[in-house]
Amino acid sequence: MAHILYAADDAAGSFSAKEVTDDLDVNWLHGILKTRQVWICPATHNIVSTNVGISPFTSRVGLVDLIKISVSRVSAGKSYQSMGVMGVGTPYSMSIPTAHDGPVEISGIRKTDRNINSYVKYHDSFGLAGQVPGPSKIWICTESLFVGNPYYPDLGDNHDERGVATGFCDGHVEFLSQAAYLRSYELSQDEGRTGIPLTW
Ligand SMILES: [Zn+2]
Repeated sequence: MAHILYAADDAAGSFSAKEVTDDLDVNWLHGILKTRQVWICPATHNIVSTNVGISPFTSRVGLVDLIKISVSRVSAGKSYQSMGVMGVGTPYSMSIPTAHDGPVEISGIRKTDRNINSYVKYHDSFGLAGQVPGPSKIWICTESLFVGNPYYPDLGDNHDERGVATGFCDGHVEFLSQAAYLRSYELSQDEGRTGIPLTW
């Protein structure tokens, strides 16, 4: 929900302030979210402390545990991550503003309240080429999934192999089972992913 409020305030309607694909900093949502505890999945012992740090990607200052993400259920760092970019590895690209380096061209697109309604799936994994997923199928946040296979719910992740809570761009949240996970991921992210291995 905070991402939708952020998009409403952003000049370009962007759901995310992400400048670099690997940048998992979410301090840009901190002014909207009044408590840092919303970043903690109740199934974990993750913590978001008041310690301050600097993002290695953007040099922005913020809470270190919102710059980092948890790497397991018992580590420091937020339990959830934003999914601000889609279509990495497609011919789609986008110019986005950055705080220090001017506009940069990224592979794929950064999700905005203007481009998610008409986004057309490029890759044909799961037979999805040509589909228009729309805001109710496009992810905006999900859980840390770095134990075992990355970006796949398995033993040791926040809910083990049972699945993950994922938020969508229309504001609804679903608990995706492991069986439903990969198709939903690919319908949202359009990376040509067909199985557990990532394509990037
Ligand atoms: Zn959870």
